[in-house]
Amino acid sequence: MTYHRVKGCYDILPEADEPWKDPALWQFVFEKARKVAALYGFKEAILPAFEYTEVFTRSSGEESDIVSKEMYTFMDKGGRSVSLRPELTAPLLRAYIEAGMQQKSSDRFFYIGPCWRYDRAQKGRYRQFYQFGTEIIGVSEAYVDIECISLLMDFYKAVGLKGTLLTVNSIGDKETRKRFETALREYFRPYLSELSEDSQRRFETNPLRIIDSKAPSDKELSKNAPKISSFLSDAAKIRFELICETLVKENIPFAVDLNLVRGLDYYCDTVFEVVRKEDEGRQNSLGGGGRYDGLIKELGGPDYSGVGFGTGIERVCQMLCEENQALPAQEQLDYYLIALDESCQRACFSHLQEIRKQGFSALLHYKNFNVKKGLKAAESLHARFAIIIGEEELKNNQMTIKDLLKRDERVLPISFLMELSNENRHKILT
Ligand code: AMP
Repeated sequence: MTYHRVKGCYDILPEADEPWKDPALWQFVFEKARKVAALYGFKEAILPAFEYTEVFTRSSGEESDIVSKEMYTFMDKGGRSVSLRPELTAPLLRAYIEAGMQQKSSDRFFYIGPCWRYDRAQKGRYRQFYQFGTEIIGVSEAYVDIECISLLMDFYKAVGLKGTLLTVNSIGDKETRKRFETALREYFRPYLSELSEDSQRRFETNPLRIIDSKAPSDKELSKNAPKISSFLSDAAKIRFELICETLVKENIPFAVDLNLVRGLDYYCDTVFEVVRKEDEGRQNSLGGGGRYDGLIKELGGPDYSGVGFGTGIERVCQMLCEENQALPAQEQLDYYLIALDESCQRACFSHLQEIRKQGFSALLHYKNFNVKKGLKAAESLHARFAIIIGEEELKNNQMTIKDLLKRDERVLPISFLMELSNENRHKILT
């Protein structure tokens, strides 16, 4: 009996079957995320994988795809409904409110972690996927919206992505959206039967989602639909103009997309999304976010504003591989020890531990006492040095050390291994 991973999941392993599943690449992307977030003054939050279901129904809206179709929800043994987090904004806000953080000065958070959605499993769409995201709480200035966008674009640049396309829009406040929804219903009513099944359902509940539907029939019909820009209040228009002007000034390339509304109900004013330039259908966004004033109050906190983004790590890694960017070099192993019999193995084991204590990475060849096979293993592990200890070496308190980079070999006293951290000793070896 062999077991398989759950549908829609993947394994990140050394020597994986696809380059984007390389753990070194993931670590590299995580490092860049943390570095860029720190540049903008964000602090990391590490949150539970699951929450009481209300946290998500309250925030994303019962009608959103995420809540109505994609959430992994179950009753725990105490009879309470809990859900694996499908996104991290609501958990972060729940934690912020619960910790009474409005009394403290931290208002910028970032997170990196898995989310779960019962999504249609395909390339770029998984049932467990990682998100890197940020939230800024309690600051309503338009400049912080730009900071979020700028951070996201800096992150893509830092990992080395080239072909990204940023789109922005403003969807105004609740009142604006109510008037816009009425206009959309009037426009779509005669075409109701031509809309996709999802859009027919959303006609009553959330007609905004019809205009950012990916279904070809909905897209065609949406072309001539009313645009939210004609419904924006003067204040919302001024805010959006400031955002666009500042993006230009800051040299952050973007396009305005008047049909961009984003999936979750809680967004208002600024919304943004990043896609691959060649992803015309905008099927698989790399990341996106927006402002969500009112959501913190909805979740029982103070009437604070908020803005943030989330970006998927899988799609970033896949795009990096597809763009053929120089991927991070394989981590190098400092020493690979090869013993030629059991008593040499005993000696090697204590050297192995000694080397590690000095801060160098080391492994011992366990599979056999064969030099050739040992050296082959050392090569495939990208070891810099191989240390060979056989009967002769053991007797003379020596070792044969092979520099696998420079391809030279010498016999040295074993005592050298005791002083590796001494710069000079290490230099002699190299
Ligand atoms: P969303 O919360 O739907 O706006 O998603 C934010 C980002 O998370 C997207 O732009 C994707 O990069 C990523 N994402 C969302 N759903 C999935 C999924 N099922 N599989 C992989 N990545 C996803």
